[in-house]
Amino acid sequence: MEISDIQVDGYERVARCRDEASGLHAIIAVHSTTLGPALGGMRMLPYASEDEALFDVLRLSRGMTYKSAVADTGLGGGKSVILGEPGTLKSEALFLAMGRFIQALEGQYITAEDMNIGIPDLEVVSRETRWVTGLSKDSGSSGNPSPYTSYGCLVGMRATAKEAFGSDDLTGRRVVMQGIGAVGGPLAVLLKEAGAETIICDINEERVNQLSREHGFTIVDDDQHLDVECDIYSPCARGAGINDQTIPRLRCKAIAGCANNVLLEPRHAEDLRQRGILYAPDYVINAGGIINVSVELLDGGYNEAAAMRKIDRIGDNLEQVFAISNAEDIPTNEAAARLAERRLAAERGE
Ligand code: NAD
Repeated sequence: MEISDIQVDGYERVARCRDEASGLHAIIAVHSTTLGPALGGMRMLPYASEDEALFDVLRLSRGMTYKSAVADTGLGGGKSVILGEPGTLKSEALFLAMGRFIQALEGQYITAEDMNIGIPDLEVVSRETRWVTGLSKDSGSSGNPSPYTSYGCLVGMRATAKEAFGSDDLTGRRVVMQGIGAVGGPLAVLLKEAGAETIICDINEERVNQLSREHGFTIVDDDQHLDVECDIYSPCARGAGINDQTIPRLRCKAIAGCANNVLLEPRHAEDLRQRGILYAPDYVINAGGIINVSVELLDGGYNEAAAMRKIDRIGDNLEQVFAISNAEDIPTNEAAARLAERRLAAERGE
């Protein structure tokens, strides 16, 4: 086992982790522990090079600092990446080695699920380190974060509606959703309960038909969903859906969904603003899952009621983002970053 530090300006620690026996090649990035231990998921991808993996882990760990700062989780930002093809490289020895590396960071970095990493993988990691979150509920952990992400998004949609339409009542509001998977599915049901008129699309026909049969949702084809006039567009499938091609087609007044990296590029937030479309920044509105995990870590053990109360604060966080955006005449994604930076600066006593 070999751990070596990579010096990167603005990052507290970036560790290259190599274990010849299992073939593990990973990078753990601790961007900031200013607000608490650095929490962030572990992902596994066949990166073309270490540079590509490093770029990804630096970008993602910094994003986690901002997400947690705005959500006020009491956590910092980190991330880890394992280089390799999950189908062929995954093994017990690999995840045990990863666990030992995480343990060597002595709680500076806390891991969780991310792309291509599941609970069974994390259970192996947890045999070597206690700095693992989001295991099964049976083990006293906070469990699957998706329903909490969905609930937090509904809270955020109410705040977005209040800003865009003057009322947080979703009754009769038309919402078009792209993606009804782990987060989008439960969100569609919550929207129905809130009285919204929900229109759904998903490339998984079976899923979309079943949800519509159960709840009476209208279905729209994925390639036509952007053309449907609506109050709120809710991207809950994948990233980069808001870009130069899609923005001119949008017929919504606000965007509020669970997907990560909704904007292809940050500049697209200004394009939305120019068109009078209110954008609820993705990492602010989709923080329900991480807030849920933070309760497991910081509040003396997991407690669902406490988690829900904390998730309800997503509405206040968005209100603050919109207030900064209005007062400083900047797009909402910049306003969210400003809010995060202020909270970090306040903690540092600046
Ligand atoms: P998922 O795989 O369970 O669901 C995604 C759904 O989107 C699937 O049903 C899929 O068929 C559909 N889909 C994919 N491409 C599509 C397309 N082009 N058009 C229409 N539908 C399409 O994933 P998920 O966990 O629900 O995550 C969805 C998004 O939310 C992702 O961007 C994820 O990063 C983000 N997110 C999830 C969580 C969480 O707690 N799961 C937390 C924060 C953010």
